[in-house]
Amino acid sequence: MRPTIAKVALPVPLDREFEYLIPGHLFPVIGARVWVPFGPKKLLGIVTGLSHQSEYDVNKLKPLTTLLDHEPLWPDTLYKLILWGSQFYQAPIGETFNNVMPGALRKGKPACKQAIRWWQLTDSGKNQLMQGFGRAIQQAKIMHALEAGPLTHQQLLELDVSPSALKTLTEKGWIVDKEQINTPQEWPSQLVDESDKRQLNHEQMLAVVTLNHVEGYECALLDGVTGSGKTEVYLQLIEAVLEKGKQALVLVPEIGLTPQTINRFKRRFKVNVTTIHSGLNETERLNAWLETKSGECGILIGTRSALMTPFADLGIIIVDEEHDTSYKQQDSWRYHARDMAILRAHHEQVPVVLGSATPSLETLANAQSGKYLHLELTHRAGGAQPTRNFAIDVKGLHLESGLSAPLLAKMRQHLEQGNQVLLFLNRRGFSPAMMCHECGWIADCIRCDAYYTYHKGSGEMRCHHCGSQRPVIHQCQNCGSTQLVTVGVGTEQLEAHLQTLFPEYKTLRIDRDNTRKKGSLDSALEAVRKQEYQILIGTQMLAKGHHFPNVTLVALLDVDSSLYSSDFRASEKLAQLFIQVAGRAGRASKPGQVILQTHHPEHSLLQALIHKGYAEFASTAMQERKLAQLPPYTSLTLFRAESNSFALCEEFLRQVRSTLEAHPLFDNSCWVMGPSPAPMAKRAGKSRWQLILQCQLRSTMQRLLSSSKAAIELLPNAKKVRWSIDVDPQDLS
Ligand code: ADP
Ligand code: ZN
Ligand code: ZN
Repeated sequence: MRPTIAKVALPVPLDREFEYLIPGHLFPVIGARVWVPFGPKKLLGIVTGLSHQSEYDVNKLKPLTTLLDHEPLWPDTLYKLILWGSQFYQAPIGETFNNVMPGALRKGKPACKQAIRWWQLTDSGKNQLMQGFGRAIQQAKIMHALEAGPLTHQQLLELDVSPSALKTLTEKGWIVDKEQINTPQEWPSQLVDESDKRQLNHEQMLAVVTLNHVEGYECALLDGVTGSGKTEVYLQLIEAVLEKGKQALVLVPEIGLTPQTINRFKRRFKVNVTTIHSGLNETERLNAWLETKSGECGILIGTRSALMTPFADLGIIIVDEEHDTSYKQQDSWRYHARDMAILRAHHEQVPVVLGSATPSLETLANAQSGKYLHLELTHRAGGAQPTRNFAIDVKGLHLESGLSAPLLAKMRQHLEQGNQVLLFLNRRGFSPAMMCHECGWIADCIRCDAYYTYHKGSGEMRCHHCGSQRPVIHQCQNCGSTQLVTVGVGTEQLEAHLQTLFPEYKTLRIDRDNTRKKGSLDSALEAVRKQEYQILIGTQMLAKGHHFPNVTLVALLDVDSSLYSSDFRASEKLAQLFIQVAGRAGRASKPGQVILQTHHPEHSLLQALIHKGYAEFASTAMQERKLAQLPPYTSLTLFRAESNSFALCEEFLRQVRSTLEAHPLFDNSCWVMGPSPAPMAKRAGKSRWQLILQCQLRSTMQRLLSSSKAAIELLPNAKKVRWSIDVDPQDLS
């Protein structure tokens, strides 16, 4: 008997599926997309079940409107993993499906390759190029961009060209566009460029040989100091996988997906290397998804969102910089891509490699307990030496724009030897606050618990938390004085100051404020490699993945706030940052130095880091976590509530607390902390509260959450506040 009722998961914040009648002419399968009526709206959902009977009155069910797919969107193992992932992170199933689908599929586009719009020069356009363009700068830009060959519409837009210039040039007959679907490409018989390969050193060889012998699932931590040749290990592992006709998935952090990285893979392999990241438009993203699903691409490199892409025949998963916080999604389906990658590998019975010079304590604990293989690369490859590290005690020293005299002397010394210097300050803008010199009033954002950052260049005050901005204030709003002074130092101020201190050297600042435009970061990095600049100032952005062979001195200007933060992961993050930043220096034959300016040079964490390295730090930090009963020794879930009303948030979380505590599974291995105001108690006009559930056993926590969620959803205030459940939270602010 054919089923008459379909269960459908819809992108609504309700943790249930909905039932629809199946019209006689439609034959849905589980995992296919359908359009259905939902109240006054039409929604796209995924079929999750087929049956003959309903818990509800069949006469009241509405029929499905349209069936979009004749086969499931995901292979069975991946489909099951999505269901599992939605339960693990307590996210509604419909939202989870919505999250793992490319945007084009979410909108109901067919699951087949779409045409991409290409631009190219016509013959008369080529002739025109010889003759020049006078003052039509925009037009010249387009013509020159197309000189080397056709570009997609998206690529041209990324070069910041104006659509009107495209139109003018088309009307002149100098350029044409056409829509084209890329034809599927077979893998070549020769898979790699042998000349690009390196002779592996002993440790690299051991890692490759060990992992090549793995059959089925295995999780390995590739724990290698920066520059130890982890990427070379990935490349050779992937080669062996491709030889078996299987594909590879490589995950990289948001910041790590540079053209440099992608080119390294493209140089080595002759198979299709596909990328998925936030810069793609919908069509490109869909095509990449389909190329992976069909087996056309050999290697998929992507950020977090690439993880749930279906593969024809997956052979290995690599998670580079596994400690990176960008792997955790902060809204909707709050999954950790590293942890889901491990699960995926388990479901698909393939090896997964977690690479890092600074593994997270969670991963280290698993490696030490024997749950993961622990492969170590202890030396820098290619002969580069480890850096020499030391702290400058800045207690009582005069700091000029955050720089001490001993640091300035060091900088001069390195610059005079023709080397580059990298200064690291994780604070954008001119100064992080502006204060009244008469009464001490500080300009703060009305919508957040935060001060305005002063941006001198744009003449604005900006709140880095809600994004609001206003013109610079010239008068105190408390006492009326016009004596306003800046407090603290940001990258913009540091840049200005260095230009006056070292007029003979060129200074370059790289932060989010001046690299917003597509391609501007790459051109800045290129200029650094060409040594057009000697002094580099950077934020977090510069900490990862880039090679600066001529940088011989790296200094971290202000790390003290991380030593005494309320976030228990702050010290781990500082240590990771320190090692990553230090890894930028002296990559080539020149030895590097790393200097830390601090008021607390005696701090045990800094001492361990500076003199003994990350492993020593990690073992100290692990002891502390154990004593404090924090992850990885316990598991956490964070409940957040947000509302215009302070009282509603508190009341709701109080009810959540009672619900949890009343549950039979809640025993003396579980604790609840809160409700309490979030460290940032107000953001974008909303009060913010939180409640932390801590359990000794993950399994208890999971069962407790799964079986309390329905009751929490029914709490009287659950519809009045915005709330969320964050399993394994990374950000406690
Ligand atoms: P990581 O990913 O650990 O930071 P990379 O793989 O980027 O390190 O390697 C750092 C540098 O060392 C690169 O320039 C790479 O080409 C080189 N390299 C890697 N392995 C070897 C090797 N076995 N012999 C010589 N050079 C190597
Ligand atoms: Zn704000
Ligand atoms: Zn004042």
